[in-house]
Amino acid sequence: MDEEPQIPEHDFLSSLVVLYVEDDPEIHILLDRVIARHVGTLITARDGAEGVALFRERQPDIIITDILMPTLDGLEMTRLIRGQEPEVPIIVTTAHSDAEFFLRSIDLGIDRYVLKPTNPKVLLKALHHCAHALSLRRARESANRYVRFILDIQPNLLIVVAHQRLEYINLAFLTFLGFPSREAFLASGTGLDDRFLSRDGTPLGNPNTPGSWIQSLLTTAGEHRIVLLRPTEPEGSHAIPFTVTFNALPELDQYIFSFSDVTHLEQEKQLLETQAFTDALTGACNRARLQGVLKAELQRANRHDLPLSVILCDIDHFKRVNDRFGHQIGDDVLRQVANLMKTNIRAEDFLARWGGEEFMIVSPLNDLENMSLLAEKLRGIIAGTPFPVVGTITLSFGVTQRRAEDTIRELTERADKALYAAKAGGRNRVERAVED
Ligand code: GH3
Ligand code: MG
Ligand code: MG
Repeated sequence: MDEEPQIPEHDFLSSLVVLYVEDDPEIHILLDRVIARHVGTLITARDGAEGVALFRERQPDIIITDILMPTLDGLEMTRLIRGQEPEVPIIVTTAHSDAEFFLRSIDLGIDRYVLKPTNPKVLLKALHHCAHALSLRRARESANRYVRFILDIQPNLLIVVAHQRLEYINLAFLTFLGFPSREAFLASGTGLDDRFLSRDGTPLGNPNTPGSWIQSLLTTAGEHRIVLLRPTEPEGSHAIPFTVTFNALPELDQYIFSFSDVTHLEQEKQLLETQAFTDALTGACNRARLQGVLKAELQRANRHDLPLSVILCDIDHFKRVNDRFGHQIGDDVLRQVANLMKTNIRAEDFLARWGGEEFMIVSPLNDLENMSLLAEKLRGIIAGTPFPVVGTITLSFGVTQRRAEDTIRELTERADKALYAAKAGGRNRVERAVED
């Protein structure tokens, strides 16, 4: 935000209001006309008190002042004015040349000295110098205002970091944080130290090192990652996902970070993930999800030698249901069977549609005995539940438990064989895999 300002070439001085404070009427007569010819408006005062009053009333652009004056001297007046407007350029006309005077005036930040008796040319040169500096400053301020305006109308959350410190925070960001204005944000003294979280919910950067989020953001943003941002309490616990990108201005040691809310994308992604792993008809997990679950659970059980059991079950004579009542009614039966099973297994059990009218239940930490009991329970519930239109439905069940160094294929093939045995044994029954 420190770009080189355009220098207005036109005689800037002739558009300015200049306050000239001098108690000596003769000097006034001598210099007023000279100054007036070169400035936009000249206002004059006879002493420091009048000077302060006129300054407040007219807000001049540049001040020329004598030092020794009645009621309030030039330096005292300067101190009062600078307290109100620290940047106003001040030219001092002085006969003083002692060190103490210069030290005081340096403290006050006097811009220019013109020695008395005042040479009008020297005074004009000083005036032009101040006008030029003022025009540069105004141009820079206006460029800054322009940049800030552009940052503020952006819908994205934006911050400017300069020399590793927060330099600017745009309106969208302030609104997100819950501050009505930049002033309120600055007055709160909260900063951004505890606002950023990684995607896993841990703080970004070291919370005990102020500003360490900046470096973390730079590395995170470089990888096009997502960060979480905490709004102000009471919603503070609910962090919102944003993608973060940045642009660097290396010559100014500045970075502009931009944050876009991706809540809707994250929700969509979750929905798609859920859809990708769910069987559309029954709402049970699909085969792809089951594969992942089996892999993870079997690895875990094998590593720690933990029990793990599965049930494979199949609706008996389901082809007849379709044939007699139609495919729609068949679909309804599949949904109802899935629902009955879902509501009768534990939260840590997985129900998946294995295919067609077959379902698999994976039960971590359950041994064969318990799994057989569960299968028997499900068999009884379904066989005892009257289904609309079709009446009674039964299922056959094959049960097996994990054996040492089992693979998914070995585990499921044993369950399938047990299911086959249940079918062969007359259906509507539970069979365990051989040798289990
Ligand atoms: P069994 O007792 O030996 O299992 O006999 P079954 O008739 O149930 O077995 P079979 O494998 O001969 O038939 C399965 C039937 O399941 C055939 C198929 O049309 C039906 N089916 C598979 N998927 C669906 C589905 O999504 N909806 C409907 N309505 N029927 C399905
Ligand atoms: Mg069947
Ligand atoms: Mg079948």
